[in-house]
Amino acid sequence: MLRQVNVGVKALADYHSIVARDLLVEIRELAASLEGLRVCHVNATSFGGGVAEILYSLVPLMNDVGLKADWRVMFGREEFFNVTKAMHNALQGAPRGITPDEQRIFERYNLVNAGGLDGDYDVVIIHDPQPIGIRGNTSGLDTAKWVWRCHIDLSDPNPQVLEYLRPMMAGYDAAVFHMAQYVPQGTIPPAVIMPPAIDPLTPKNMALSAEDAAYIVHQFGLDIDRPLMLQVSRFDPWKDPLGVIDAYRIVAERVPGVQLALVGSMATDDPEGWEFYNRTVDHADGDPNIYILSNLNNVGGIEVNAFQTQAVAVIQKSLREGFGLTVTESLWKARPTIGGNTGGIPLQISDGVTGYLVDSSAACAQRMLDIIDDPGGAHEMARRGKEHVRAEFLTPRLLRDWLRLFSDLVGA
Ligand code: UDP
Repeated sequence: MLRQVNVGVKALADYHSIVARDLLVEIRELAASLEGLRVCHVNATSFGGGVAEILYSLVPLMNDVGLKADWRVMFGREEFFNVTKAMHNALQGAPRGITPDEQRIFERYNLVNAGGLDGDYDVVIIHDPQPIGIRGNTSGLDTAKWVWRCHIDLSDPNPQVLEYLRPMMAGYDAAVFHMAQYVPQGTIPPAVIMPPAIDPLTPKNMALSAEDAAYIVHQFGLDIDRPLMLQVSRFDPWKDPLGVIDAYRIVAERVPGVQLALVGSMATDDPEGWEFYNRTVDHADGDPNIYILSNLNNVGGIEVNAFQTQAVAVIQKSLREGFGLTVTESLWKARPTIGGNTGGIPLQISDGVTGYLVDSSAACAQRMLDIIDDPGGAHEMARRGKEHVRAEFLTPRLLRDWLRLFSDLVGA
């Protein structure tokens, strides 16, 4: 049986002074006609990364407005996750495809997991490619509506892997993407666009005083009186931590004493992650002003919040990025933010208006210096970024989008 994640309780009423009133009214109206709808989210992990982050807020809010929502995690071993990691990379454009042996592993785990999806649901939401094959292998749940929710940047996918997955997509009633550019060409289920969102009422995103942030950051050995550059990301080539170090070195020539923190948790069983972590440490070359922290350093939600609050600017120098929740988190804290000009980041940052978009380490360094030289202007920009997040990228808007889709699917 697929493990259920215990998500606790949240109340939509707690958000009423944070988001627009008409959004909450619309949610209540939609929810009234969906009362008791049984929804099941299925994904591959309850820890780490953007999907888990979203479900911990979305699932309890679905319950609070009257649905019966579950979140269940598929079962997998290292051999399976090695395949799905390669698949994920390929869908983001990596040239390496999936071998016939890997396909067999992928299909075997999906078959076993399909057998473990018990219960009666009206809507099943399958997140990302890992469990996509469950749909074609279930024997029950025939009357349910099935949705595939893709969180990946699919703008330039490896065609072999996309074609391998296409028949598995065919059984779904809808496919949800962050943005229109990610909808694959050719036959797929009806596409729905729904960018993700952050929860303003979690320890990671609630306002932390400057004093508390400084207190926490100081415990990691940083000097809170010197400027801090920050990137919060898994250690992954697409997140380009090496490029961030290069940008930091350019900045350090003009701003002696500037510090850089690279904060990234990762699963202990992710060999590729640890390998890239080691490469990042090598690239930092023992510089005492570069702090590389991982989950081994106990960096949880409050600590991420503290680093984001303390940083003079937050960087997300991705080369590919499905959406970039770290950008949303930074903008919500009204921090000056510099993002790679890719994927979902331009949806959040309009260059020079709500933050800066960059295509190289040199440009990243220059924008960092601009922010240091003009803190007043940078703060104005960051405040516009915060209002953009309030209007577009907080969890109640995402909840509303899901309720709209459920209404369409079940004809409520
Ligand atoms: N995150 C975290 N600790 C870390 C690294 C990342 O809590 O050490 C969180 C980060 O704050 C964000 C999520 O993990 O909420 C990453 O989401 P994003 O969309 O930026 O990237 P993904 O990992 O999904 O590619």
